Amino acid sequence: MIDINTHPIFKVISTKAAESGVRAFVIGGYVRDWFLHRESNDVDVVVEGSGIALAQAVAAELHTKVTVFKNFGTAMLKYKGVEVEFVGARKESYNRNSRNPIVEDGTLEEDQLRRDFTINALAFSLQKEDYGTLVDPFGGIADMAQKIIRTPLDPDTTYSDDPLRMLRAVRFATQLGFDIVPESIESMRRMRERLDILSKERIAEELSKILLSKVPSRGFYLLDECNLLDKVLPEIAALKGVETVNGRGHKDNFAHTLQVLDNVAAESGDLWLRWSALLHDIGKPVTKKWDDKIGWTFHNHDFIGGKMVPGIFSRLKMPLNEKMKYVQKMVSLHLRPIALVTDEVTDSAVRRLLFDAGDDVDDLMVLCKADITSKNEMKVETFRRNYDRVKEKIVEVEEKDRIRNFKNPITGEVVMQRYNIEPGNIIGEIKEVIKNAILDGVIPNEFEAAYALMEKVAAEKGLK
Ligand code: ATP
Ligand code: MG
Repeated sequence: MIDINTHPIFKVISTKAAESGVRAFVIGGYVRDWFLHRESNDVDVVVEGSGIALAQAVAAELHTKVTVFKNFGTAMLKYKGVEVEFVGARKESYNRNSRNPIVEDGTLEEDQLRRDFTINALAFSLQKEDYGTLVDPFGGIADMAQKIIRTPLDPDTTYSDDPLRMLRAVRFATQLGFDIVPESIESMRRMRERLDILSKERIAEELSKILLSKVPSRGFYLLDECNLLDKVLPEIAALKGVETVNGRGHKDNFAHTLQVLDNVAAESGDLWLRWSALLHDIGKPVTKKWDDKIGWTFHNHDFIGGKMVPGIFSRLKMPLNEKMKYVQKMVSLHLRPIALVTDEVTDSAVRRLLFDAGDDVDDLMVLCKADITSKNEMKVETFRRNYDRVKEKIVEVEEKDRIRNFKNPITGEVVMQRYNIEPGNIIGEIKEVIKNAILDGVIPNEFEAAYALMEKVAAEKGLK
């Protein structure tokens, strides 16, 4: 843990500040995390004067590089495992239509007032005369002991000035296992429309931090409680509720989804697998139907849900890259492993699954196992047993047939050379027959057998 009494950079900051006649303080996340015994290597230093000038003086003394962000009035340097960001103390007022404040130079006290939460407004003095003394004007330490998130000012002001703070409140509550005080929750309900001025990237960033917490469900329950969920993720808000026909209800898909998310989180720290868990049932509200014979059905919700994924990513300005494709694939395939076990688990069904999931099959199995939630213990038992059977079978089939990274043993090149033909549809058709024959177990996944089948199919198509 980085300690301001032992890490050499802090004494240098202290000396250089004194030489320039300014006061400097360590502030914010680092001080909070110090008391919570959380590891943190990012240190923020606030200066009653120029943050950039102090950073430059410190960097010169330590013979290290400094990066200046002139537009923000900040400067950053790295030294022996810590990253220190310097900023001048400021006083702020806000323009209603943007998060960008009108900034003026200020004192430590004024700077602390513009911080989002009492636990984030703590500071340690770096002055010689009271080095290391805590400055806690709003009772941040007491709030930490009580495990509560509270704003230093009237919450309506804090949240309206910068609505990102509402999502930060939920995020910190989730990360730290704290409660948000009732006045804050009520304020967020009133301020929900203010979220409209936020950039989607910042929203996505907070959602990802919530997802990466130990028990992520808490964040989504809180978003819902604060009436913010339908603003940031309407597809998840739509999962709420139970409809009843003839006395029969379906399960509450919101509670189910969050249970699945926590189950996945207990198994894997992967952000994208967690996103997949969150989104796995988003196709349910749109596919829900009542059938007099069967009851509630959600036919095709896996496939429809998969199709909804790119829209959500693009709305949140998350890159439409291979991570998005991965989430889409997980959502689309989430029922497949369990669907395999209705009766017999055939090799060809497992080969198809391996082909479709590729290297992501292990993650898919984690999701699939996490998806087994029911109040009925017997049902859970049966599903678990089926799941274990599929899992074994996957290992067995993969060992034998190596389908995970399936590459057709017959390439287009081989076909073109053998028959002396130009690229065209017929090549794809021949390869498709070979692929299906391998997945269905008609021929082994080997060149010889595949070549023989190519000859047969080509002859039927009139090639010589
Ligand atoms: P983490 O780094 O884990 O996200 P943090 O508290 O360090 O937590 P940062 O975003 O790094 O959060 O911000 C550092 C400090 O700056 C915070 O502790 C807080 O005092 C202040 N701060 C950050 N964002 C805001 C904001 N939107 N409104 C008010 N103060 C903020
Ligand atoms: Mg930080």
